[in-house]
Amino acid sequence: MEWTDEAIARLRTLWAEGLSTSEIGRRLNISKNAVVGKAHRLSLSPRPSPIRRVAGESPLPRPVAPRRVLGATLPPLSTAMAGPMPSLRPLMPAPKYSHRATPCCWPIGEPGKPSFHFCNETAATGKPYCEEHAALAYVRVRDRREDVA
Ligand SMILES: [Zn+2]
Repeated sequence: MEWTDEAIARLRTLWAEGLSTSEIGRRLNISKNAVVGKAHRLSLSPRPSPIRRVAGESPLPRPVAPRRVLGATLPPLSTAMAGPMPSLRPLMPAPKYSHRATPCCWPIGEPGKPSFHFCNETAATGKPYCEEHAALAYVRVRDRREDVA
C-alpha cells in the first residue's frame, strides 16, 4: 500500500467522519490493520468507542440566550383588530334564528280579501314556513282535511 497524499487525505477525512477502521480500509481498498497503523503514524486522535460516539454526539450546542426582540414591535394582531370591529356590530342586528331569514309564507285569511296575509314569521331553516306552520304543513294532508271537514 502506497500512502499517497490523496490516500492520506481520504484516510483523515474518513477517520474524522467516524467510520470504523475496517470500513475505512474497505473504502481505501486496504486492510484494517493498515488503516490502524497509518492512523497511528499520523497521530490521528484515538477512536472513541461507537457507543460513546452516539451518546456524546450532541447536535450543535443550543443557543442559551433567548432571542431578544430589539426595537419597537407591532402590536399583536388581536389588539390591532379590536378597534373597529365592535362598533360595526350594532349596525348588523343579528337575525333571531339563522342566516336564512325567509319569512313564513303560510297564508292567513282568505285570498282576495283585505285581511289576507302571510304569516311572515321567520321561517325555520330550510323550510318555507315558521316552526308552527311547518308543523301544520307537514302533517298528513288527509288528516287535516278530515279536521276541517
Ligand atoms: Zn308561519
